[in-house]
Amino acid sequence: MSETESPYGPTWYAATMVAVPERRALTHDLDVDVCVIGAGLAGLTVAREVARRGWSVAVLEARQVAASASGRNSGFVSPGFSERIDAIVERVGLPRAKELWALSDGGVEYMRRQITESEMPGVLARDGRLSVRRIDDEQALIDHAAMLRVDFGAEVEAWPTDQVREMLRSPHYFQGLHSPKAFHIHPLNYALGLAAAAEKDGARIFENTSALSLDPAGIRKRVATPHGTVRARHVVLAGSTGAGEVDAPIAATVQPVSTYVAVTAPLGERLFEAVRYTGAISDTRRAGDYYRIVSDDRLMWGGRISMRGSTPWRLKAALRSDILKVYPQLEGVEIDYTWSGVMAYAVHKMPQIGELAQGYWLASAFGGHGLNTTAMAGEMIARAILEGDDRWRLFSPYELVWAGGRSGRVAAQTLLWSMQMRDSLKERLARYRDRARREADARQIRFEAERAMRKAEAERLRTEEEARRIAEQEARRLAAEEAGRAAAERARQAAEEARLAAEEATRALEQAEREREHMVRAAAEKAPQDAAEAAAAPTRQVEGHKAETAAPESAVEPVVAPEAAAAPEVVATPDVSPAPEAASPPSEGAALEKKRRRKRGSKKAEAVAPSAAGPAPDSTPCAALASNSKYFCPGGMYSNGVRRIDGEAINR
Ligand SMILES: Cc1cc2nc3c(=O)[nH]c(=O)nc-3n(C[C@H](O)[C@H](O)[C@H](O)COP(=O)(O)OP(=O)(O)OC[C@H]3O[C@@H](n4cnc5c(N)ncnc54)[C@H](O)[C@@H]3O)c2cc1C
Repeated sequence: MSETESPYGPTWYAATMVAVPERRALTHDLDVDVCVIGAGLAGLTVAREVARRGWSVAVLEARQVAASASGRNSGFVSPGFSERIDAIVERVGLPRAKELWALSDGGVEYMRRQITESEMPGVLARDGRLSVRRIDDEQALIDHAAMLRVDFGAEVEAWPTDQVREMLRSPHYFQGLHSPKAFHIHPLNYALGLAAAAEKDGARIFENTSALSLDPAGIRKRVATPHGTVRARHVVLAGSTGAGEVDAPIAATVQPVSTYVAVTAPLGERLFEAVRYTGAISDTRRAGDYYRIVSDDRLMWGGRISMRGSTPWRLKAALRSDILKVYPQLEGVEIDYTWSGVMAYAVHKMPQIGELAQGYWLASAFGGHGLNTTAMAGEMIARAILEGDDRWRLFSPYELVWAGGRSGRVAAQTLLWSMQMRDSLKERLARYRDRARREADARQIRFEAERAMRKAEAERLRTEEEARRIAEQEARRLAAEEAGRAAAERARQAAEEARLAAEEATRALEQAEREREHMVRAAAEKAPQDAAEAAAAPTRQVEGHKAETAAPESAVEPVVAPEAAAAPEVVATPDVSPAPEAASPPSEGAALEKKRRRKRGSKKAEAVAPSAAGPAPDSTPCAALASNSKYFCPGGMYSNGVRRIDGEAINR
């Protein structure tokens, strides 16, 4: 769209503006209470507020409503002025600076109220503003945020670099000041909404009607236009940089400063790779970049300033290159709209607000911070005219100072360039330091990571070693337990065997005892018989002798005692031949003694017999009996329930 196709120029705003009614030019003379020159935001707000209070008001606009800066700006609405707040404090002192700040904040609230109350279509207000630094100075930002909060009650947050870069993917940015209550709008639709609201309350707006001259003298001022004169008790000059025809000396107190805007083609998801913040964004340099997302995925990008009035050659390419310097990831971005706008700056960068002569008011020089300040000024002047509100006097320290005319513009441009050069140097230094710091940080992180890895490895080895040690200990403990269990089992088996052997021995002993008793009994039973036999033996011997002597020699058989017959070896010995006493019948005592001896011999034989079964001393009958402590063992191997097994004493 070319500049000629729309009275609003080739702007994205013109492409998305609401429908507007046709507004005629003034073609007759007119008498009103208030005549406003200029239908920018300043003039429209005055008209709206005057009309709202029931006074008659006429607005003279050389072109169309908000065709100049008011309908072309980037739409950021936030408290403050073009001048820095600390410079304002320096100039007027803290108490007055606070009042000025409060007025500027009132301008923000005024706009919010108008948007809501008048239900303005297409204004698309969206919250948040982030002002980012291109030099690294966190402390300065923290101090600044603290000052705004404490001294001015501003709702702001200091964002550290990482937080800023999370939202804005650019290495050019450091810390940022976030104002959650600020917002951004479609300024053309806002201005058109304001005009409609003023008209609704009776204001008359004449487009294509230039104020050619002003006669501020007298009760009723006279404003000449090409086709009619307006007479009014109050005249408000809100023509910004275009007021030269009406009042040249006043116009000479402002410098026209141009700035430029582009809107990209829709970027889709790519935009999200660069800009994630949906509020308004600007950097803090003189003539820095300012931008925001519009229509969901277009980037509206503004920047650069110039004292020249004409639009620069190759503006599109220049703004595209500005975008890519900050966000190279948007390479290939297409630009759909570009335009320029002119702002009025006073030398002190503060608005010019006040009564120049009785009934002659000025609202101008809002610079690059004109949305909230035009609202503030418009309401304040309407109140001053109708209600005698004199808060406009707070701006009296900012006098009307000649801006230097043409040479002033040249001087301002030169000054701007030199300041931009200084800014650029500072920036480069900041980026260099930042890169160096980040590289050092990265090195430190790598070092820390390596150290942590080494530590983890050492810890792993130590843990493995410990685990191995514990496993071995456990294995030893289990083996010991197993060995203990085996030893106990062996001991149990040995004890069992010993017990069985003891039982066996007991049984054998009992058996022997029984046999002994039996033999004693048998011997006792046999004793009388033996005695009788012994008694009868001499008789039989005599008879035998008689028989022998009576019988031939060869037939004589040797007489052998029955006991001797039982022992052949005895028979073989010559001693067995009848001893003198044996030849004589044995006495009863001798027979008994002989029996006792024989019994002892058999007992001895019984006792000796088991020893043949086992060679070890402990395996003697005494050892067999040892398990039973009731028995006394003459061999000395056991006594009092203690016995010896395998050389060890076991206490039973
Ligand atoms: C590109 C750009 C971006 C900006 N961004 C922001 C921003 O984001 N936030 C912010 O706060 N401010 C911003 N500003 C500044 C802000 O837009 C202006 O300060 C503000 O709009 C000024 O309003 P104004 O009414 O004083 O002047 P203007 O909008 O310039 O209105 C003056 C009107 O007076 C008319 N006029 C002049 N002489 C005569 C005459 N003799 N007879 C009849 N009519 C006459 C003109 O045609 C014009 O319509 C920006 C400005 C520009 C150019």
